[in-house]
Amino acid sequence: KLAAQIRDLTKHYVLKSETVRALRGVSFDVPEGDYVAIMGPSGSGKSTLLNLLGCLDRPTSGSFMLGGDDVARMTDDELSGIRASRIGFVFQSYNLIAQLSVVENIEVPLYYMGRLTRESRKRSTALAAMVGLGQRLDHRPTQLSGGQQQRVAIARSLVNDPYFILADEATGNLDSVTTEEILALFQRLNDEGRTIIMVTHEDEVAEHAKRIIRLKDGNVQVDEPIEDRKTFS
Ligand code: ADP
Ligand code: ADP
Repeated sequence: KLAAQIRDLTKHYVLKSETVRALRGVSFDVPEGDYVAIMGPSGSGKSTLLNLLGCLDRPTSGSFMLGGDDVARMTDDELSGIRASRIGFVFQSYNLIAQLSVVENIEVPLYYMGRLTRESRKRSTALAAMVGLGQRLDHRPTQLSGGQQQRVAIARSLVNDPYFILADEATGNLDSVTTEEILALFQRLNDEGRTIIMVTHEDEVAEHAKRIIRLKDGNVQVDEPIEDRKTFS
């Protein structure tokens, strides 16, 4: 089963006097349970691809199938609906809401979906415990370390049972020890069957994935499994 299917995806940005062809026909499948690292030099199209995968933007042409629906044909309302309901975002800067507690931050996607119910607290509490923050349910983001804040963001990314977690330089603000902790958490989630797509420019981070997709000039230059995937015990 596929978490996502991408076919001949192009994205053009039309400027005053020129058209920038940011993606020039990108194709790949993401099977459920995959763990993909998207890499490539600056300007190669990583952010553009991330925006498309995250349903923040529509392609110029091509198809992006998500659960049987083509994102390329969705209205803006449908795009924001699927973003809130089926994609788990993890950002470099965590993007937590300062006024909200750990459990409340985890519930934010449910709020946006209009699905905040009395049951929600049970789920956010379980997810907080799952990422190791069971003793900090009522803390505010400023009372947490960077690594703990990113754990909240990862718990938040799971609250809607997403097709995949989309992580954008998720360890970019973290020291190397904390980076390893966050990567170990991703590893555990992937071992449990979660699909993860991450964008990173760091080889040491990408090596934790099962597969690397390397972009160059808006094309897939390399798409290959990582042979000696590190295992943690
Ligand atoms: P990366 O994330 O790998 O650095 P991007 O996807 O940001 O690559 O950019 C790919 C190409 O598209 C670059 O040439 C960039 O200048 C161009 N680009 C990106 N976003 C826009 C935009 N909103 N308008 C015009 N050109 C853009
Ligand atoms: P409802 O209250 O509308 O009957 P739920 O609130 O139980 O439904 O579930 C809403 C959605 O959240 C479902 O798609 C379900 O798969 C998902 N979900 C339920 N439990 C979890 C969990 N622990 N983590 C992530 N997603 C969950």
